[in-house]
Amino acid sequence: MPVPPSERLERTASAAARARLDTVLVTPSADLVYLTGYDPPPLERLTCLAVRPGRPAILLVPELERPLAESTVKAPVEVVPWTETEDPFDLIRRIVGKGRRVACSDRMWAMHVLRIQRALPHASFLAASRILGPLRAIKDPEEVDRLARAARYADEAFGRVTRSRLESVTERDVAGRLTELLLELGNEQVTFTIVGSGPNAASPHHRPGDRTIQARDPVVMDFGGRAAGYCSDITRTVAIREATVELREVHDIVREAQERAFGAARPGVPAQDVDRAAREVIEQAGYGDRFIHRTGHGIGLEEHEDPYLVEGNETLLQPGMCFSIEPGIYLPGRLGVRIEDIVAVTEEGARRLNRASRDLEIVP
Ligand code: ZN
Ligand code: ZN
Ligand code: ZN
Repeated sequence: MPVPPSERLERTASAAARARLDTVLVTPSADLVYLTGYDPPPLERLTCLAVRPGRPAILLVPELERPLAESTVKAPVEVVPWTETEDPFDLIRRIVGKGRRVACSDRMWAMHVLRIQRALPHASFLAASRILGPLRAIKDPEEVDRLARAARYADEAFGRVTRSRLESVTERDVAGRLTELLLELGNEQVTFTIVGSGPNAASPHHRPGDRTIQARDPVVMDFGGRAAGYCSDITRTVAIREATVELREVHDIVREAQERAFGAARPGVPAQDVDRAAREVIEQAGYGDRFIHRTGHGIGLEEHEDPYLVEGNETLLQPGMCFSIEPGIYLPGRLGVRIEDIVAVTEEGARRLNRASRDLEIVP
């Protein structure tokens, strides 16, 4: 049974009480979707959910968005509209009341944060991720299913794009094909498509450009979409026509690092240990300084969210946590290799949501 949104509101209120917070304020963002199912566009007009321990939740909306809110909100919240001539920050002041500790959603616009701070001169402010990060990090079975479905679409898009010829095609055209495939397969949105060929493979967040893919190139493809609200994110590195000795060697190391990190992921293990497992393999192979990013990030309603798999993060993994494992090695001017899967922590260990082969594929 999926956790109903009302339970999420209750959990947020109790977590807020434990953190001695008086109110958690959430503006349009994944946090609001998570708590209410409501996904309005973030605008200059204030839409703001107030979660308060021991008191009913209130959703402040501009009068003109009241019909939309009342028909979409799937949680027990009282919808309070404000009219164009009213000051919504005055209403925030009344909702927070004597509260002194207030959390604001991480993606709240500065223009709203600043007005709220002015309306509550005696309050102290925290990031709501302190409360919502750990709650959102643990997915219920329905959420894991959605992530798994999104992952299958990504696997299939990769499979199809590599069955076509990539030599003599520009990176931008490959990115365009991936976009089409992701939409065709059932994603409602394509969130990003990285295609880095040849020396561009060494830039982890390369923006696909005019470069024409050539024989013996490595090509890093890292892309994702959103299906039923949940994100995918996969990376594979392929070789065009044939792989150089260096590419094979580096790919083997990265695949081994990915494997070891996956093997380390299980309940009770600190998040940083997954990073260490991948990094150890790469360091021992002599490429430690060429692995220039963390091993992974949580994923869900957003592409990047808690937990982050990085040195220093001692958060213990728990069943239901879903995150990427994506070690890479980048040799500037020459090549880059990254392999990324989304995995879900289970009671016994972890399971991969991506099933595309991690072998070095040779593509025509
Ligand atoms: Zn990235
Ligand atoms: Zn990625
Ligand atoms: Zn990623």
